[in-house]
This record gives sequence, structure tokens and C-alpha cells, in this order.
Amino acid sequence: MSLLTVGTVAFDDIETPSGRAEKVVGGACTYISLAASYFVTPVRVVSVVGDDFPEDTLDYLRRRGVDLEGLQVKKGEKSFFWAGRYHSNFNSRDTLDTQLNVLATFDPILPEIYRKSDYLMLGNLTPQVQIRVLEQLTHRPKLVALDTMNFWMDIALDDLKKVLEKVDVLTINDEEARQLSGEHSLLKAAKVIHDMGPKYLIIKKGEHGALLFHRGQIFFAPALPLAEVIDPTGAGDTFAGGFMGWIAKTGDTSFDNMKRAVIYGSAMASFCVEQFSIERLKGLTPAMIENRVEQFAELVKF
Ligand code: AMP
Repeated sequence: MSLLTVGTVAFDDIETPSGRAEKVVGGACTYISLAASYFVTPVRVVSVVGDDFPEDTLDYLRRRGVDLEGLQVKKGEKSFFWAGRYHSNFNSRDTLDTQLNVLATFDPILPEIYRKSDYLMLGNLTPQVQIRVLEQLTHRPKLVALDTMNFWMDIALDDLKKVLEKVDVLTINDEEARQLSGEHSLLKAAKVIHDMGPKYLIIKKGEHGALLFHRGQIFFAPALPLAEVIDPTGAGDTFAGGFMGWIAKTGDTSFDNMKRAVIYGSAMASFCVEQFSIERLKGLTPAMIENRVEQFAELVKF
């Protein structure tokens, strides 16, 4: 099974109550593809970087089975850059800086083989780019998921609504679900968002877990209580990578299997937050992932 993913590959400056990290590797697509690579290969990447992006990170991703044929490298240009500062609760953050750089003129070109992919994860990025990716597909994937954020709701809502009509699963956080739907109750928000297109809605609530909605059915997954959180950056993307990785590995898009996928996504996200950047996601083993999944099962068994 193949999983196609699009999103940013970036540098981040991050400040959390646990410390700070400057110009570290980040980007939605980086987290998604790395997390998904623990479940399925190939993971096909569509993104863009400048020639300032570290070659050893790209090599590491290749070694994990991530196909970078669709990653454009722009000579003499700079990679996407984002800077953020987390509040004392780790759950909310302020964006201090967003420099689109190579992303400002990015035209995603899908290599021929990518146009027929079994699954698609549209990571957080300009909705226009997400639309361009959908337009180039010759076959509709078995499941299309989309992640986005308030930044795009503020500046590109019309385009975002066009993409939403074409996707099966939307993953956003609770504040974004409220902003997108205009409803405070998450139950009402889910109904409004279903009517925009996505049959499945996943609302991420940080340390309070995640909710999966599917036309009246609801599933709740807690987040694993952790002794120490270092950096929540990328947790949502890592969740999405684990979620879609599990769906692609099993080839099962039933609601019951989506519940399992939510747990695998949550397990991957629990690793992500334990260190800055992608460091904790490197070098995991299937046994470590299974062990986390068992901890989730134990947590809610009564
Ligand atoms: P998350 O914490 O899951 O929301 O993802 C954080 C990652 O998203 C960071 O590594 C950033 O590089 C990237 N990011 C931040 N802002 C944007 C944006 N406006 N569009 C796309 N990616 C972004």
C-alpha cells in the first residue's frame, strides 16, 4: 500500500516551558512521513525546501522508506520557517514568525507514479497547493485525509472550503473546529463540518486526547499522561502520520479500524512530545510502539 503526503518541510524556532531550540528540523510533512514510515512504505512526499535544508535529515528519511522524488529542492532559496512560543500549559501557543520562503511560489508537481496512490494525507499547507495535488491524481485514493490550521482559515477560507468538499477525514484542534463551524459545542461543530464534506472528523485536544466523529457516532481516545513534555510541536502531524499509516497498513477504513488508527496516532504523538523536533521519533521499534498502544488500552479498561 502506498501513502502520499503533502505538507511543509521546514525549520522551526521553538520556545516551550521546558527550553528552547533554534533552527531545528520541523514541518508537517516531515512529521507525517516519519511517523507513517513505521507502518507503511513507500510514503511518498510532495513538498519543497531550499538548499539550506540538511542533507543528512533527507538521507535519514530515505533510509526509513520515505520516497523523496516529489520533494523539490530550490537552489539559492530558503526553506519554510516557523517560530512559536508555547504557553505554560503547553496546550496553546503563539506564532512569532512565519516565513513562507520557498512555499510562496511552490507548485507541487506529482511524479507520474504518485498519481495513483492508495491513501492520501494532505498535511497542513496552503489550501491552493492541496487542491493542486488533488487535481493531479489519476485515481481517487481509498481515503483522503486533510489537516489544516487557523492560519489558513484566516487567510484562505474559500479555498479551504473547496478542498474540504473533496476529503473524507479532517483533523483539526478544538479551537479550529469552533472557528470553522461557528459552533461552540463540538457535537454541533461536527455536524456542520460533516456537511462541508468530511464524513469523519478528528478533533485533537492536545493533552486531553482526541475525538473521532462519524455521523452521530463518537469515539474518544485519551492522551497518554507523560511525566515530562518537552515540545508539543508536530504532535498533530505525527498523530496524522500514525493514523494514516495504520489505515494504509491494514487497508481497512471501517469506523472500528479508525478507532484503532486514532490510538496508533495518539501513541506516535506521545513519543513526539518527549523531545524537540523529530529526535524522539527516530529509532523507534515496533515493540516500543506496541508497548505504548498497550498502555492506552490499560488506561481506559475498566
Ligand atoms: P503541529 O504542532 O502539529 O501543528 O505542527 C507544527 C509544524 O507545522 C511545525 O514544524 C511548522 O514548521 C509547521 N507549520 C507552522 N505553521 C505552518 C503553516 N502556516 N503552514 C504549514 N505548516 C506550518
